[in-house]
Amino acid sequence: MTRVKRSVLFLMMCVTLLGAFFLYSHTAEAAGFAERAKNLTAIEGVRISTSGDKVRIVVDAADEVDYQTKTLASPGRVVVDISNAWLSPKIAKSQSIDSRFAKAVRVAQFDSNTVRIVVDTEMATNANNYDVFSLTGGSAAYRIVMDFGNLQKSTGGTTIAVKKSGGRASSSGEVKAEKKSTETKSAETKSAETKSTETKTEDRKTKTTKVSKGTYNRSPGIDGKRIALDPGHGGSDTGAIGPTGVTEKSIALRITKRLEELLKKAGATVYMTRTGDTEVAKDGANASDIDELQARVDVANDNGADIFLSIHLDSFTNSEVSGTTGYYYEKGSEESRELAAAIKNRIVKSLDTTDRGAKGSNFYVCRKTDMPAALIEVAFISNPAEEQLLHSDTGVEKAAKAIFDGIKDYFG
Ligand SMILES: [Zn+2]
Repeated sequence: MTRVKRSVLFLMMCVTLLGAFFLYSHTAEAAGFAERAKNLTAIEGVRISTSGDKVRIVVDAADEVDYQTKTLASPGRVVVDISNAWLSPKIAKSQSIDSRFAKAVRVAQFDSNTVRIVVDTEMATNANNYDVFSLTGGSAAYRIVMDFGNLQKSTGGTTIAVKKSGGRASSSGEVKAEKKSTETKSAETKSAETKSTETKTEDRKTKTTKVSKGTYNRSPGIDGKRIALDPGHGGSDTGAIGPTGVTEKSIALRITKRLEELLKKAGATVYMTRTGDTEVAKDGANASDIDELQARVDVANDNGADIFLSIHLDSFTNSEVSGTTGYYYEKGSEESRELAAAIKNRIVKSLDTTDRGAKGSNFYVCRKTDMPAALIEVAFISNPAEEQLLHSDTGVEKAAKAIFDGIKDYFG
């Protein structure tokens, strides 16, 4: 071949390869879009652990999911329907449980976008003997936890345990293998299928209104207020991790400590759940998820705080997702909603983030605290730009100041 011919051939090969590459990448992209359009979240695991007085079933999801819980009688079952989800084929369809509290758990793709979890349990007939709630992060991005047994509801008689909780948590990653986490959020989605002749115990949700003790102070100004601040995660629980490795626990602590300074300067008494990179529960890394969260709640309740604020950063599998969300306990007080909204609004304005709204949730720390409470997802640590912003001194300062201003707005 002449040199010219060789060059032409080479050029043609390049064009062909390039064409093939574009075709491939477009196909891959199209497939990705199709996946996303379907918007189904993978249910990746169903794990069972038993102890003397409790059976815990943990359903691992790849992302936040909506779910609804119902109970059926004779035989007793607790059913959790997870919307917009698909069941990973690796999950055993049925697992028996060696416990007097629950006999078996079965999972199935109920319809094209619903995964159904059924637990055979006589506990279903007594609301005090089971609990369903969600946790974010840990061994999976999102977990639905079902407890059966002699459940202690140490709520001091003020918060009534939420039994009937549908859930959809924020996508904040409460990370730590098998450990703590906060966030539970519920979206009371009505069950469309009432065709079942079996008894449904929907009435439970009427009992779940959070009754505040009424001792908290909401007079104008920050001076003299008692404020409980909870930097999310800590210690063995890193929380979500950003693309460059920045941890949620560290940023949450930086923001909260700066906020503490601002509040103290304005005359408030501040109760921090943690001031260092530690767990809050006395058992540290050995504490259960719930013990860790309860320890945070206790700091607020035991000190009779006027408000409780948990500071987190959000996280999502799609790194393009960004923005700020204020969460309050969805069956809680109007004050909680106002608190979450006021803080969220200030952050959105100051950090110029997307406004994801003030949303009802079922986060443990929000529902178990006696006073108006909010959990703030300042921005997405999984979003590269927001990770950088939050990692910077300017970002931390702005976030702390914005939350401070939001608190001021709340008290009026
Ligand atoms: Zn978090």
